[in-house]
Amino acid sequence: MPRALVTGVHGQDGSLLARALSDAKWEVHGTARGGESGSLPSGVLVHEADLNDLAGFTEVIRRVEPDLVVNLAGISSVALSWDQPILTSEVSGRAVVDLIEACRRLEQRLGREVRFVQASSSEIFGNATQAPQTEDTPIRPVSPYGAAKAFAHHYGVVARGRGQFVSNAILYNHESPERPPTFVTRKITRGVAEIALGKAETITLGNLDARRDWSWAGDVIDALVLIAEAPEPDDFVIASGVARSVRDFLAAALAAAGIADWEGRIVQDERFARPSDAPEMRGDASRIRTQLGWAPKVPFEEMVRRMVEHDLEELAG
Ligand code: GDP
Repeated sequence: MPRALVTGVHGQDGSLLARALSDAKWEVHGTARGGESGSLPSGVLVHEADLNDLAGFTEVIRRVEPDLVVNLAGISSVALSWDQPILTSEVSGRAVVDLIEACRRLEQRLGREVRFVQASSSEIFGNATQAPQTEDTPIRPVSPYGAAKAFAHHYGVVARGRGQFVSNAILYNHESPERPPTFVTRKITRGVAEIALGKAETITLGNLDARRDWSWAGDVIDALVLIAEAPEPDDFVIASGVARSVRDFLAAALAAAGIADWEGRIVQDERFARPSDAPEMRGDASRIRTQLGWAPKVPFEEMVRRMVEHDLEELAG
């Protein structure tokens, strides 16, 4: 049984990936910071590790001796990265060098391959020079998060050039009911559910015109498994190929909750706007489609419906 180590195992993607790899007959280990918890499939072994303590973190890699490391740990919020640029660059940028180096040293000691899959991000393209973006689009981040992810992405390519199996999964926004409400999608579905149940009058949002390429998180996890098991390492865009505005997401969520009359329900507040925000992110996933056979299964409206229904149930219950 091959052994995988999923960093950030209690996040939205970590818990979904732990399940998918267990189903695909991997022995799964995960890392989490102290105090984090969540439900994981039985058999998943969780090791306490924090990217602020890189010696401790790389010691977990040394001890677990994985065949595969999937790096999902780090600051995952663009919004937060504006308040914490130094922390973001350390845990989502520089730390990735340590993890890849730990894999290289383990390869030397064990005399076998240790694969590394990095959760890269559409944010590396920032004010993209082309739409849709591909693996060859120039990297031009516009947020501290994007800059940190860009560095990690570049280092992954460097390590691959040196002969390591390192792949960058360039993830576009991907959502599920596990998303924390710090992200706009879950903030909207929860807010809409509160309005539908008479628990709130309004939703307060920032930039409604930003256009993002939103996918169902479960489909993105399928792509991560394909990349981990691929014959060769590479960079892969993972996206639906369609961009929608925050306003479109809002309209779909209101429709899913059966709210027709929403005049006056939406409040715009500068506090939720960002110093700079890419106007449109849209990815071209042709490479992973043709090389690894990936295709997303859950359409946009269905994704929004599932999230709204989850929140209606949770808040009513
Ligand atoms: P991100 O793409 O990883 O930053 O994911 P988010 O869900 O946090 O943000 C997606 C888009 O929604 C960005 O363009 C934000 O500027 C925009 N947005 C508009 N209003 C809000 C809000 O109230 N909260 C958040 N998090 N984003 C918002």
